[in-house]
Amino acid sequence: MAAFRCSSLRKLSSAITQQCSYHQRQLSYGRYLLAQDQARFFPAKTSPMLPPGTFDGKIAFITGGATGLGKGLALNLSQLGATVIIASRSADKLKSAANEISEKTGNKVADYRLDVRDPAAIKSVFDDIETNHGLPDLIVNNAAGNFISPSERLSPNAFAVVINIVLNGTAYITLDVGKRLIKAKKGASFLAVSADYADCGSGFVIHSAAAKAGVEALTRSLAAEWGRYGMRFNAISPGPVETKGAFSRLDPTGQFMGKYMEKIPAGRIGEIGEFTNLATYLLSDYASWISGQIIRLNGGEYPCTAGLFNDLKQVTNEQWDQLEAMIKNVKGS
Ligand code: NAP
Repeated sequence: MAAFRCSSLRKLSSAITQQCSYHQRQLSYGRYLLAQDQARFFPAKTSPMLPPGTFDGKIAFITGGATGLGKGLALNLSQLGATVIIASRSADKLKSAANEISEKTGNKVADYRLDVRDPAAIKSVFDDIETNHGLPDLIVNNAAGNFISPSERLSPNAFAVVINIVLNGTAYITLDVGKRLIKAKKGASFLAVSADYADCGSGFVIHSAAAKAGVEALTRSLAAEWGRYGMRFNAISPGPVETKGAFSRLDPTGQFMGKYMEKIPAGRIGEIGEFTNLATYLLSDYASWISGQIIRLNGGEYPCTAGLFNDLKQVTNEQWDQLEAMIKNVKGS
């Protein structure tokens, strides 16, 4: 009986594997995006969700605001009335993003060349911002570095670089501007951009997973401690959203995302506008009662990859009939 069950299960498993590739009717959707059939049920609505003028009179500071998700957020905040300040290392990218956004929205966009690993540089940037713009109302810790690597190939320096940008950079920015805000008795809303593996961990990006886990702990901790100064702290934990910065170092061949898509119940990766809508909401006064939260934005991917039995969704009804019969036939324990 045991032998029979074993060979039946082997056949079933091979049938499931075939079924699986048969069911992967992937539609070409850009260079990287390979959407599953069910993606049509989860359309991405990317136009700005909040009412015009939501951030009138507000100053928003965004690290890594010249590219990818940060640039998308800078644009959305500017569209909604904020004066936006973007900061990162590449002067060319900063200038081009600031001009592009300002031309689109008609609002002022300032830029600062800054390496978030350098506390002295952060101090001098915020000295200037405080004098010339005023302290920010909205602070977004978005800058990051990441790349895939087997951990046995990771040098201490490579590990430290990512920790320094992601965790230490977030801490240095937050502590510098936070202390100024406390002194000025001014409240603010902070948002950190984490990653959906921060909680569960992930091989091949242990530097980023460790750093983002630290960022999430920082977010919760300061929400508890600095609420009394009028500050809120939240984080978004995104799954994959196509940006050059992320995909070129996390999926250099473009093959991994197609496979990954099978793990996302919504059947597709996210879009920048979906991120910016959630981010602007969390930063806005509409979310005044939300603090210390890490919000997952990943099409349902996390529970799907976490559950041991979730691959059973590839089992057909006929196969379930067989499985059910086998289970019913089991006598005793
Ligand atoms: P991205 O375009 O590469 O954004 C990273 C930004 O960080 C760049 O603008 C970069 O500008 C800046 N940066 C890097 N090192 C810096 C440093 N030392 N000092 C100051 N700025 C620095 O990639 P992205 O996909 O938009 O990522 C944005 C955030 O989303 C990151 O926190 C990332 O971990 C998170 N995230 C993204 C995804 C995704 O699928 N896209 C998924 C999960 C989480 P410079 O190089 O010019 O400094």
